[in-house]
Amino acid sequence: MKKIYFTVGPSQVYPTLYKHMDRAIKNNIPSISHRGSEFKQIFKETTEGLRKLLSIPENFQIFFVSSALESMERTIQSCCGKTSFHIITGSFGKTWAKLAAELGRKTITYELKNDTAAFPELKISAKAEIICITQNETSTGFWIPPSEIIKLKERYPEKLMAIDIVSSVPYADIDFKYIDIAFFSVQKGFGLPAGLGVIIVSPKALEKTEELIRKGVVTGSYHCFKKLSEKGEKFQTPETPNVLNIYLLNNVIKHMLKVGVDKIRKDTDEKAKNLYKFFENHTKYDLFIKHPGFRSPTTIVIDVKGESEKLRKKLAKIGYIVGAGYGDNKLNHIRIANFPAHKLNDVKLMLKYIS
Ligand SMILES: *Cc1c(COP(=O)(O)O)cnc(C)c1O
Repeated sequence: MKKIYFTVGPSQVYPTLYKHMDRAIKNNIPSISHRGSEFKQIFKETTEGLRKLLSIPENFQIFFVSSALESMERTIQSCCGKTSFHIITGSFGKTWAKLAAELGRKTITYELKNDTAAFPELKISAKAEIICITQNETSTGFWIPPSEIIKLKERYPEKLMAIDIVSSVPYADIDFKYIDIAFFSVQKGFGLPAGLGVIIVSPKALEKTEELIRKGVVTGSYHCFKKLSEKGEKFQTPETPNVLNIYLLNNVIKHMLKVGVDKIRKDTDEKAKNLYKFFENHTKYDLFIKHPGFRSPTTIVIDVKGESEKLRKKLAKIGYIVGAGYGDNKLNHIRIANFPAHKLNDVKLMLKYIS
């Protein structure tokens, strides 16, 4: 039976992935040197493609690392000397704050509840150098609207704004004018194998790194922003990177550009509408996030009242694999991914089967 992975990461692979893998083997991509011109070309095309897809300004740099968790760590090391501020909406945000504390930073956290409608009253301590936000919290389906992030940045323009867009990219329409650091890994919205992270960095974030280095702060070793930046300018990475996955990302991005990001976003909205409407009208189940504006279009989390395992087993029988709840909510929630690799028809069939 053919399986469709509606899990939130790793997830269903991008439809054209196997074709790109095939071509990668035929073209000896796993054997090419990461210092050679062929790799530099792949690096260049991938970053240029991503720039187009996500409207990333020319003066921002794009780095390749190993994962999103690594991106959290590198962001703190390279852009926060003493104090970080974290908006928490679930487990990934907590992980980011914990990691900053483990690196010896003072962390200030502010937890948003799942009935949040806005947070205009939120005050950020003068000491905080960086605001860390999980824009799409995959553990809870908590979506912070980009407009709220803009409002916050307008109130605190001097602070660095860092966002985790792992499970919302490429759907999330981010205005990078208000963002200093954004990162993601590729096994979610891009439908690729895990093991590659991408960090998008503003000139202001790089200035902050320089300032920390001048003050004698250790900003990391081989993957500090300064080294990533110096190598990146030559279309290279400090270490031997995941060349195969960068190659695959390049090809998936090219395909997405052909489809068009507007169409991807529109299709995502349509699938999300179907999913939310169905569960909103369900007699027993509840949507976990209460305010519609803060419900994730790409990560749908449903409180199924202890029926998580039963429902997931039922769906697995016809090949639809959905995620369990995260952590303590394992038995009470299901999580359904809505990424570009997921088709409207499969969403409809799945919902029909549940009812
Ligand atoms: C999956 C996920 C991560 C972690 O990604 P890795 O690639 O495993 O490091 C971080 N943040 C969010 C929001 C995620 O969904």
